[in-house]
Amino acid sequence: QHKREIAERSLPARTTDGHQMEIAANINRPDQIELALSQGGEGVGLMRTEFLFLERSSAPTEDEQYETYRAMLDGLEDRPLIVRALDIGGDKQVPHLNLPREANPFLGVRGSRLLLRRLDLLATQLRALYRAARDGESSGLSIMFPMITSVGEMQRLRAVADSIRDELDAPQIPLGAMVEVPAAAIGADILARYVDFFSIGTNDLTQYGLAIDRQHPELAAEADALHPCVLRLIRMTVEGAAKHGRWVGVCGGIAGEPFAASVLTGLGVNELSMTPRDIPAVKAALRGTSLTALKTLADKALACETAAEVHALDREEL
Ligand code: PEP
Ligand code: MG
Repeated sequence: QHKREIAERSLPARTTDGHQMEIAANINRPDQIELALSQGGEGVGLMRTEFLFLERSSAPTEDEQYETYRAMLDGLEDRPLIVRALDIGGDKQVPHLNLPREANPFLGVRGSRLLLRRLDLLATQLRALYRAARDGESSGLSIMFPMITSVGEMQRLRAVADSIRDELDAPQIPLGAMVEVPAAAIGADILARYVDFFSIGTNDLTQYGLAIDRQHPELAAEADALHPCVLRLIRMTVEGAAKHGRWVGVCGGIAGEPFAASVLTGLGVNELSMTPRDIPAVKAALRGTSLTALKTLADKALACETAAEVHALDREEL
């Protein structure tokens, strides 16, 4: 029984009618790659690089970052590795960066807004990434930017990346936007022209969509990513991306819940990235159903009036 379960982890998440979802892992540290692969991860869909900055008293140098990214790419061979550019601010504070205090950090200079104001941090990280892509054997690297709200941000980030790539004579790397802000979801058809892919961060998209602090002791339980209005934002992202032939992943916490992963698949998401330990159950759930059934499920979920009704569909299906 246990042996069969281990063997099944490496099978693809292919539905009974032949639709294959890409299943990737969220990792915070390079040494989690082994766990990600052993659980059946087909690559890394979110590497949170904040942790390279958090567990120390000064920022890692370009060479230190280069070594880290090289080792990760080598460990993954040609599998995908999506590195998220530094996402600081809001719930992720790094004391040694000495950033100014803000009255509303979640609505302040965080994610890409910080990167565009601290070009030193951005350029160091991008140089390390492009060098790693240039010097290694693997072709799996992509970079995504957190908290994108506007086309202008993406254009400026891309311009910095392009000039570094030119200077280093490095290969092209797909550049994606995280969809974590309602504006990015609602305007996905516009933003899609400027990105190679989208990855929906449902933790933040839910926080900003429902206006509930994701860490609020009393309210966090109501920050439900299966709220039908959050599902509508996800649907808009998928539709906007499709207009320009871009793919969409989800790397927020719900990607790792079998029922939510089923709804997301039905909504037309192409990749799910999750905590390594969640991978086997999500793969098993998707292998046990058809895309046709999941599209019906997603339509029902979108038609629900409340999050509770969406959750009730889970019990109904069972
Ligand atoms: C998210 O917001 O859903 C996400 C994946 O990013 P983080 O949880 O690191 O903010
Ligand atoms: Mg986020």
